[in-house]
Amino acid sequence: METHCGECDADPLAMETEEEPRPKEPPRIHRLDESVVNRIAAGEVIQRPVSAVKELVENSIDAHSTSISVVVKDGGLKLIQVSDDGHGIRYEDLPILCERHTTSKLSTFEDLQSIKSMGFRGEALASMTYVGHVTVTTITKGELHGYRVSYRDGVMEHEPKACAAVKGTQIMVENLFYNMIARRKTLQNSSDDYSKIVDLLSRFAVHHIHVGFSCRKHGASRADVHTVATSSRLDAIRSVYGVSVARSLIKIEISDNNPSTSVFKMDGFISDSNYVAKKITMVLFINDRLVECTTLKRAIEIVYAATLPKASKPFIYMSVVLPPEHVDVNVHPTKREVSLLNQEVIIEKIQSLVESKLRNSNEARTFQEQKVEPSPYDKMALDKESNFSPPPSGSKSQKVPVHKMVRTDSSDPAGRLHAYLQAKPCGPLEKNHSLAAVRSSVRQRRNPKETADITSVQELIEEIDCNYHSGLLDVVRHCTYIGMADDDFALLQHDTHLYLVNVVNLSKELMYQQVLRRFAHFNAIQLSEPAPLSELLMLALKEENLDPEGHENNDLIEKIAEMNTELLKQKTEMLEEYFCIHIDKHGNLSRLPVILDQYTPDIDRLPEFVLCLGNDVDWEDEKNCFQSVSAALGNFYAMHPPMLPNPSGDGLQFYKKRKPLGNLEDEGKTSDDIGDDGLMENEIEHELLSEAETAWAQREWSIQHVLFPSIRLFFKPPTSMASNGTFVRVASLEKLYKIFERC
Ligand code: ADP
Ligand code: MG
Repeated sequence: METHCGECDADPLAMETEEEPRPKEPPRIHRLDESVVNRIAAGEVIQRPVSAVKELVENSIDAHSTSISVVVKDGGLKLIQVSDDGHGIRYEDLPILCERHTTSKLSTFEDLQSIKSMGFRGEALASMTYVGHVTVTTITKGELHGYRVSYRDGVMEHEPKACAAVKGTQIMVENLFYNMIARRKTLQNSSDDYSKIVDLLSRFAVHHIHVGFSCRKHGASRADVHTVATSSRLDAIRSVYGVSVARSLIKIEISDNNPSTSVFKMDGFISDSNYVAKKITMVLFINDRLVECTTLKRAIEIVYAATLPKASKPFIYMSVVLPPEHVDVNVHPTKREVSLLNQEVIIEKIQSLVESKLRNSNEARTFQEQKVEPSPYDKMALDKESNFSPPPSGSKSQKVPVHKMVRTDSSDPAGRLHAYLQAKPCGPLEKNHSLAAVRSSVRQRRNPKETADITSVQELIEEIDCNYHSGLLDVVRHCTYIGMADDDFALLQHDTHLYLVNVVNLSKELMYQQVLRRFAHFNAIQLSEPAPLSELLMLALKEENLDPEGHENNDLIEKIAEMNTELLKQKTEMLEEYFCIHIDKHGNLSRLPVILDQYTPDIDRLPEFVLCLGNDVDWEDEKNCFQSVSAALGNFYAMHPPMLPNPSGDGLQFYKKRKPLGNLEDEGKTSDDIGDDGLMENEIEHELLSEAETAWAQREWSIQHVLFPSIRLFFKPPTSMASNGTFVRVASLEKLYKIFERC
């Protein structure tokens, strides 16, 4: 005991915790000393040396400088010195220069709405004086000499001293964080502050091209950033980031001036397929402020990953300009992030511009290489296509929110798809939808690095990546979808060839590949009502069973269903984690994965899928297991013809004939759907017909707007598809044209 107490004495922390919690008087509340408040605030504004540099350089830009140079010692902890040739600071203002909330840039709160300067809070210099020693030397126009004065904790340490000075202002911050021991220690150990400063100056130099920048380490003769004022953005990029970057850039530009969607202008440069880097460089200025926008960055990264996988870490420079009142600059203490009006719309527009630029640049290259002369027939086909082209950027696209298009009601197996009818776009907007579909499927694609690093999954993906047919890959990448030739085959045009493609095979394989690529990273489709596995299994087993009457058989079926349910219940964790197939503890299936955005599988096939999970999956071997679950999902999500016959062909007979109830049961319908008197029969057929029409129209929409766009982006056609009837070349348009010509 005694020794224990002795230890307590030696350890003040332990003593505190062991002290009896006797009832105490409430502690007194008192006002914090202003210097404490200021120091706390300063720690927020000036987080690291680079934040001080940013504030100082922004002040120099606000002072209309044309040349700004930065000298840094010890990563900025010993010295940061920023010199400019701007308008300088008046002698009379020097006493309050470094007080908190003193600024020349803002008077009323309303001014914030139209603020154009970088600074406005009057906090930066003050903050620096609370965490470092600040010395200002400045001269204003027409004066014979300048003044030098040092500050500490917001106030002048002495009267300004007259001194010789060159045009502008020089601000020195020494011993940053001298009074914040913990922060200083952490920063001393990190060696990357200087590179952060160089990076910052590089970005400024690329945007503010009318200002020359330089940045060097104290005592170094060579600057690490050195630019002269120029009128060419490309020159600026070249001198900062190098010739090879500048050489592989594409100019981009877009604007929208529609108050109901968005009002903005953007111009910039993006790298093409020649630029290969380890990480993305995104230099973003919004209303001349250097900011970050993770959503935009991510959106662009995804487009690159999908269109230029080998050059998927791009260089991006973008300058976005919006009416000042549309930007809230006051959302972050270091003003690093801003919030925009209509942010989503703007990001989406920029994303689709980037996408089409990359695609064009890619296609341009392909055409050059292939030298394909379009035949007159091609031209006709293209002309026809162009009727559907969206008007140039800025046009409104009628977007259907994804959640409204998703049917999730498992208790409604035949599907009430009327919502789709309204959702189905028509006429000139179709192509826009296709773009939107591409974009969202692109958005869904994960960075390959993020996919689970489970070896067996990687192996399965490698098998796909190594075993594709390059000729077919070219076809799927560059084909034009013409339409459905019949219930199973789509007609595609590639160069001057026509192909018939089996949609079921194609979609099955695509879904399989996508499951593996999105492994463990799925979004979820929530079933509006959880579906009991046992019932699903019973349904599926009955459908499979050739002799449904047998009583014994029924018992057997129940047994099998029960066993399978138990089996699947044991696998819930794995199914949930890797495939987003959620089974609750009562054995109800309630969630399925989104494999392609804007697409839900035909819920009629759910029973078959569940049975397949129970029967066909090899649960013992990891790789086989992942492979077979992915294949089961692929089969379930494939774009099979709907169960109701296609009403636009011979199938119409099915609806004309008055079908007795028995036949409908095959479709998984109950007599409730039918109504209970004969009079309703006409109605039923009408309803069924429209249901079928909707289902087929929806499938065709998905084929055109989801399947083929995704195929173009993600699909690796396995070699087997060249010979198993999935792709059949039917005609060469050139030859056909020659035949027509002779007629
Ligand atoms: P803010 O930039 O938010 O106004 P700061 O604390 O950064 O606040 O600067 C306070 C004021 O000092 C500025 O409003 C500006 O008038 C003046 N100032 C700071 N740096 C410079 C500079 N390099 N040249 C001219 N004036 C400057
Ligand atoms: Mg400032």
